[in-house]
Amino acid sequence: MRILVVEDDEHLNRQLKEALEQSGYVVDVAFDGEEGHYLGDTEPYDAVILDLGLPAMDGVTVLREWRAAGRDMPVLILTARDRWSDKVAGFDAGADDYVAKPFHMQELLARLRALLRRAAGHASSEITCGPLVLDTAAARITKDGVPLKLTPMEYRLLAYLMHHQGEVVSRTRLTEHLYDQNFDRDSNTIEVMIGRVRKKIGSELLQTVRGLGYRLSPPEEGGGAA
Ligand code: CA
Repeated sequence: MRILVVEDDEHLNRQLKEALEQSGYVVDVAFDGEEGHYLGDTEPYDAVILDLGLPAMDGVTVLREWRAAGRDMPVLILTARDRWSDKVAGFDAGADDYVAKPFHMQELLARLRALLRRAAGHASSEITCGPLVLDTAAARITKDGVPLKLTPMEYRLLAYLMHHQGEVVSRTRLTEHLYDQNFDRDSNTIEVMIGRVRKKIGSELLQTVRGLGYRLSPPEEGGGAA
C-alpha cells in the first residue's frame, strides 16, 4: 500500500512518514500544496494524508482539483482543532475522513486502515482469503492460524493482493503500489517475490495469469472473480 503525505510542518511530516513505514506502508512525502497536488495527480496512491493549511496551494484546493480530475483515492485531511469550518470545506471538497491536530498517531493509523479497507470493499479489520487471514491492525498474516514469516516487502505484496483478491493485478500495478517514487523499480523483483510468497502460502492460492498478472483467490473459487 502506497501512501502520500502532504504536510508542510517538517517535524510532523517526518513523524508521519516514520509511523507509516513502521506500519508496513510505502510513503512519498510533499511539503507544499503544489508538489502534493502534482504527485497525487500523477502517481497511483492507495490513500493520501493531506494537511489543509499548506503553502503554494491550500489543501482544500488541492483536493477539489484532484476530485474534479477524477482522482478517487481515499483522502484523510488534517485540520486545526478549533476550525470546524475547515472540516466542512474539506468534506465538501471530497475528503473521506479527518483528524484534528494535535492527534494521536494510533488514531490516525486506525482511521487510515479503515479507509484502505473500505476502499477495497472490506468492512472488517480482518481480511480473509481461504486459509489466509490478514490482521490489518497487527500488520500480520496467518495461514490456518499460523503466522507467516514474511519480509516487509513480502508482507506488502501479500497484503495488497489480499485487499484486491479475485482481481488480476498486473506487474506494473504491483510495482506502482509497493515502491515509493525514488525506488529503482525493476519488475523482475516482483516476479522473484511472487515466487517466494507462493512458496510460503501454497501455489494454489496465487495464480499467474499469463500476460496479464497475478490473482490471489481462495482455492474453491478457482479462477472466479470476487
Ligand atoms: Ca500546515
